[in-house]
Amino acid sequence: MALLLRIDVDKPFGHHALLPKLASKLSEETNWPLRWVQPYLPHCHAMIRMLDDAGISAFFYFRRCTAPSAATLQLLADGGHQWGFHAEDTRSFESFERELRFFENLVGQPVQHFTKHGSGQLKLGKHHYAPYEPDRYREWAQQLGIRYFSGNGTPASAAELGAAEPGWWPQCFWLERHYRHPQLNQLEQLVAAAATQDVVMLAHPETWYTYRQVADDMQALIWLMTTQQVKWKRDLTAPHTTAQKTAPAV
Ligand SMILES: [Zn+2]
Repeated sequence: MALLLRIDVDKPFGHHALLPKLASKLSEETNWPLRWVQPYLPHCHAMIRMLDDAGISAFFYFRRCTAPSAATLQLLADGGHQWGFHAEDTRSFESFERELRFFENLVGQPVQHFTKHGSGQLKLGKHHYAPYEPDRYREWAQQLGIRYFSGNGTPASAAELGAAEPGWWPQCFWLERHYRHPQLNQLEQLVAAAATQDVVMLAHPETWYTYRQVADDMQALIWLMTTQQVKWKRDLTAPHTTAQKTAPAV
């Protein structure tokens, strides 16, 4: 049993200062990754390095405007992290597939799994289709032979945090406190749940990089996971992490 760390990369330059905020907004509104503007994805690179130091492999998801550069892909590969697509234009199967293929062309590699940007309440930018419709995404994933394994729901109990069926977690524990449910909002509850079943936690590098409390919670989580000897899940196909000891790095 283990904790899968899902990381949605929403901001191309972060939002830790005025210039990164403006550059991120420009890139989001033009819907184009400005990968030649440096430092690109500084918050994401810092988070990858922090996880590498802690010996943790995670699952990163990138929007079209945060498409990983060659340097990012190298960092991810070096750390044994997995990555996929963070979908925005989900108004139809056709628009989803168009955006997915555009992203794959940008990155130069096929996508194996994806997550959805936004949880339905807010329109997050000019090109974002706000409705959150996980059942449709699951169908589309099946059609394309890729995986949609992690939804954006907020669980009220450890039971809701677990997989609804093998390979499908509709809800996740959020690193950002204001997204957690009042009845399931302690890191200790998350780690206890991960000790008995596979569960997903969602983090965003821009908030981790910007807000002290988010970074502190991440450190506290790593400490809890270590002291309670709960494993980090690093392979979607493995039922739990006891298989990790013999499995090659992914
Ligand atoms: Zn997002």
